[in-house]
Amino acid sequence: MTKIKMTTPIVELDGDEMTRVIWKWIKEILIEPYVELKSEYYDLGLVNREVTKDQVTVDSANAIVKYGVGVKCATITPNAQRVKEYNLSNMWKSPNGTVRAILDGTVFRAPIMVKGITPYIPTWTSPITIARHAYGDIYKDVEGYVAKGGKAKLVIDDEQGHREIEIFDYAKSAGVTMGMHNTDKSISSFARSCFNYALDTKQDLWFATKDTISKTYDHRFKDIFAEIFDSEYKSKFEEAGIEYFYTLIDDAVARVVRSNGGMIWACKNYDGDVMSDMVATAFGSLAMMTSVLVSPDGKYEYEAAHGTVTRHYYKYLEGKSTSTNPVATIFAWSGALRKRAELDNLSDLADYADRLEKATIDTIESGYMTGDLASLYKGDVEVHTLETRDFLTEIAKRI
Ligand code: NAP
Ligand code: MG
Repeated sequence: MTKIKMTTPIVELDGDEMTRVIWKWIKEILIEPYVELKSEYYDLGLVNREVTKDQVTVDSANAIVKYGVGVKCATITPNAQRVKEYNLSNMWKSPNGTVRAILDGTVFRAPIMVKGITPYIPTWTSPITIARHAYGDIYKDVEGYVAKGGKAKLVIDDEQGHREIEIFDYAKSAGVTMGMHNTDKSISSFARSCFNYALDTKQDLWFATKDTISKTYDHRFKDIFAEIFDSEYKSKFEEAGIEYFYTLIDDAVARVVRSNGGMIWACKNYDGDVMSDMVATAFGSLAMMTSVLVSPDGKYEYEAAHGTVTRHYYKYLEGKSTSTNPVATIFAWSGALRKRAELDNLSDLADYADRLEKATIDTIESGYMTGDLASLYKGDVEVHTLETRDFLTEIAKRI
């Protein structure tokens, strides 16, 4: 069989633990037999991040800026325990945070749906994609406790001069206060990423904030989205036959629950944090959730939404078999290859990406799956719980 050729490399970001093991298997069993894989490899495993003083993470993000498409394996974000375990000279920052800061992107998360794994909300027949703004608000806030009799003020110094706005007079009781921020630049990037992704995936875009209560802060988000939509995207949306729709966050929640899915729901940072966990759980499993970081100028980084599955890795190291679900990681690869195919006009590569995804779904729908899915499965075919490698082999048979 002649292998499918590529013209531009995919930026490949390797990672840690069980997902690093699965990463190799996916390439060996599902990709390299079919595709003459061109990739520019960066080892973001914690050992190499330590060796390179985390320069490898920065280099990998810059390579995504250069080539346009990356695929990333899950990585350990070190905490105090990992610093000891890996004898680190530094508690290196989250690689996802570093890459996101360089690409200035928005994270889109969408569930992979298969027959037999049913959402808790039966009307959700199509996936709901959450677009989470990943900068500012409560994640970069400052907070204070104010004693009884105290006052809290918001002080602004800018070209209009010096202003002091009273937040609260704590005359009758002590209490708490908070200050937070966002920037027009970051909100604009968020908006453009969402509009581009909607066009790319031909799905409606919904956006919601609490602008009726937050008349300056949240309203700014609403206005920036509206300005950018009207001036840059309106006609493109009309051509694509999709809609941009703004509503209040509480109205959005009610509408999403009653919907059939199939839209992108753009959320401010905190809303996106909470709603993506809610949507992932309601659709069935974190191991079936894809994630892609999209920059405002159209650079893409694909990954699985879950972590390195540490508990399974320790079992694997003891020589025990594991039934870790590789589906989200497979879809990270297929997503990246399809995007590369689209950018380079390679129809056979795009076709391969489709086949790989279809083979993965067919395998599960035929009753062959990993343990996490077997426990959720409510379909009518007999279930065979497989170890990860055997599951990958079953998929290969169907490509
Ligand atoms: P995790 O790796 O997502 O795993 C949490 C649990 O969820 C697992 O123990 C497992 O449950 C289940 N699970 C997750 N993915 C699965 C899969 N593919 N197949 C089967 N079960 C799956 O999260 P964590 O344990 O909180 O974090 C582990 C490491 O991952 C940490 O060092 C963290 O920093 C890192 N992390 C990285 C990313 C990223 O790179 N994007 C994201 C999150 C976390 P059972 O054990 O019950 O089977
Ligand atoms: Mg969360």
